[in-house]
Amino acid sequence: MKYTVITGASSGIGYATALAFASRGKNLILAARRQDKLEQLKVEIAKINQHLDVIVKSVDLSVAENAHTFYESLKNYEIETWINNAGFGNFASVGEHNLKKIQSMLHLNIEALTILSSLFVRDYENVDGTQLINVSSAAGYTLISNFVTYSSTKFYVSAFTEGLAQELQSRGSKMKAKVLAPAVTETEFEKHSLDLNEFQYEGQVPKFHTSKEMAGFMLNLYDSDKTVGIVDESTYEFHLKEPIFPFREGTKKASTAP
Ligand code: NAP
Repeated sequence: MKYTVITGASSGIGYATALAFASRGKNLILAARRQDKLEQLKVEIAKINQHLDVIVKSVDLSVAENAHTFYESLKNYEIETWINNAGFGNFASVGEHNLKKIQSMLHLNIEALTILSSLFVRDYENVDGTQLINVSSAAGYTLISNFVTYSSTKFYVSAFTEGLAQELQSRGSKMKAKVLAPAVTETEFEKHSLDLNEFQYEGQVPKFHTSKEMAGFMLNLYDSDKTVGIVDESTYEFHLKEPIFPFREGTKKASTAP
């Protein structure tokens, strides 16, 4: 039995992606903090395919130790695809932003994603058919004012994942690493970024994709040989591309992985 892991599966893009992978007959390991939402998703998945094995894990990934424990808890499952999707944003200028929230964002968007990517690569780099998909953003390729810190976390996600993809390719590894870079997508994202109880996209945002559309793009990226799947913010078209950042080979050091 092979599994697809999706972090941030309790709402938005992660929730829709879980349904999309279920439609492909994939067994799932779903993580987020809200257990009730994950259980609800499990019920929805059973309606698509009652034979799938769906494991639900409630975990706060903004705590580094939890990311390690979460990964360790999956040791007995064979993982085929790992999708680091959990993340959140914040709309504020740097001098005015809430540092407690920002620190949590750095821990989740950067630290947890790096820990989970590294552990997955360490264990599965040479397993046929494995994929790591990290969810960045169109804001992970273009800096946006009053969104600079979030945007920078996503530049990290894009750069780290593209660099990893190139490293894996130059080592002849079997694993593929890929970046999904959505533009505005109708989820709980705006609500959390603006610290609101509710947010209506319709009527307030000129252009956006639905989570279901984004999950479809995720599958397009999953099926392709390209490294980057990105939404063009001017046309809202989805494009599959080779790595975007410049890259060169560096000096290789002997392995010191603990
Ligand atoms: P969302 O509906 O708010 O989903 C975020 C997911 O992350 C939820 O399942 C949430 O679950 C989980 N999460 C948040 N904090 C967590 C924590 N500390 N530990 C574990 N899980 C946590 O927003 P979304 O738009 O689908 O976001 C998914 C990804 O897409 C994010 O990385 C986001 O940056 C990226 N993105 C979104 C947009 C957009 O316009 N929506 C555009 C570009 C990129 P719990 O609250 O249950 O923990």
